[in-house]
This record gives sequence, structure tokens and C-alpha cells, in this order.
Amino acid sequence: MPEGHTLHRLAATLEGAFAGSRPQASSPQGRFVEGARRLDGLRLERVDSWGKHLFLTYAEDVILNVHLGLIGRFDVTAHAGPGQVDPPVGAVRLRLVNDTHVADLRGATRVEIVTPEEVDATVGRLGPDPLRAGTPGNEPERAMLRLARSRRTIAECLMDQSVLAGVGNVYRCEILFRHRVDPFRPGGEIRPATFRAVWEDLVALLPLGVAFGQILTMEHQVADAVDLLSQGRGPAVTQGSGGGRSAFPREYYVYQRAGQPCHVCGSRVRTQVLSGRNLFWCGRCQRRR
Ligand SMILES: [Zn+2]
Repeated sequence: MPEGHTLHRLAATLEGAFAGSRPQASSPQGRFVEGARRLDGLRLERVDSWGKHLFLTYAEDVILNVHLGLIGRFDVTAHAGPGQVDPPVGAVRLRLVNDTHVADLRGATRVEIVTPEEVDATVGRLGPDPLRAGTPGNEPERAMLRLARSRRTIAECLMDQSVLAGVGNVYRCEILFRHRVDPFRPGGEIRPATFRAVWEDLVALLPLGVAFGQILTMEHQVADAVDLLSQGRGPAVTQGSGGGRSAFPREYYVYQRAGQPCHVCGSRVRTQVLSGRNLFWCGRCQRRR
């Protein structure tokens, strides 16, 4: 599933490609014909992400709300010029084309035109977003209030977008390991200091995910990524939701490492389905609450 950092990056890519232009909109697959007609030729003002939602704000207060869900993709590519755009491949729900770029939306769970009031209602239901830390409504205390009342496990709470926006399965597994938190502790039993540390860590890690287009949680990779960025050598934002080349090898502490030795203590990494997704954790290292 695209996590918050992917959506944030995609919003920047879409905005760079289309903001200020009047893209043609169509629904080659036919399931968004009326919506596409409403957007067609309208000036696109800006693109934002909130948690896992994308909002494309057009002139006249017309806003397109996209939720990619588990398998959705919004691929942005440059084209050689008018008349040089390749025909759509597969079930493209929405296609946007301007003089320089084409974007194809496939497989999204939600594609609809909404009002500013509906955007506010959607955003209001989301928990604080670590990528927006420091802005109103994105204080960790909002998440802590919801956690304190929850009997569900912390691992489930972290996947709940009304507790915390933008965190998906990879970050949930990795962040719990980084702080040695027992994933099965009820949210209400997590110490405030622990949650605050988790939050601060997400605030530091998610922007690295945005900058590099991949999830970085291993301490040596995180340190290298921070170094690269501080030297102004971070990679430019590349295209689409699929991401481009990876700057770092794909390495994690526990994610998708079931049965392999824990990098810290050597005992086998375990897995179990929780909130519909595979949780990975080290039963020996992760005892904190
Ligand atoms: Zn371990």
C-alpha cells in the first residue's frame, strides 16, 4: 500500500507537472466520465496530500479527492509534445494531459469530486500527520488522546488513519521495532513518553521517505540519508507513485523478514496477520510499552 510519504511525493510530482495548466481530463475506462468532464480544461491550482488522501484543487473550488487504496497507482510521465501521448494501457479511470505531461490513474478505491467542506470533513476524521508536524491539527497529543482510550493493540492503532495519518504497514512494523515496543500492548497502555518518541521518530523518518522515494528505517541508512540531504545531495523528486531508482538497498529490521534472525538479538523474526496486514516483530527485543 502506498504510505503517506509516497502520497506526499506524488502530490509534489503532480503539482510540478500540472499546476497552473488546464489539463484535458478523460476517463478511458469509462467509470469516471462525468467527473472527467467537470475537470476537463479547468485550471489546476495545487495538489496536496493528507495522510493517504490526495486532493487536486482546481479553479472554481472544484476539488478531486483520490484515495489509492491498496493497489491504486497514479503514474505521471513526461511526453514529447501534443499528439505524442501514448494511448492508455489497462483500466485507466482518469487521464490528465497537458502540454508536457500525462498522468494515468488506475485501481484507486476513491475518485470523486468534492467540495471544500467535504475536504474539511475528511481531513477532520484523520489523525495528525507526522509529515505536517508543527502545523495546527497535527500535534501528537491528538493521537495520544485516541490511543489512551483504545483497547486495540498499538500495532492496530498505528494502522488506523483516524489515530495517525499516513502510516502504513512497513512504517508500523519498523517504528515499533526501532522503539522496542511490544506490538500487542493495548494502545491505552503505551506510555506517553514512548509514543512521543515514536512520533518524533516518524517526523524525522517520513521526510527521508519523501526525499528518497523509499522507506528508510535502518539506522546506518538513515544516517547516510541525513548526510546526503545535509550536503544538498538528496535525489530530486522522481516520477509517479511507483517510485524511480532506489538510492539504498532494500533493508529492514523486521518487515518481511519472518524466520530470519533479528539484526539485534539473533532470535527469529515473527509474523502474524493484524489489521488485515502482516505484522513482523521480534518477540525478544520488543517488550516495551
Ligand atoms: Zn531481536
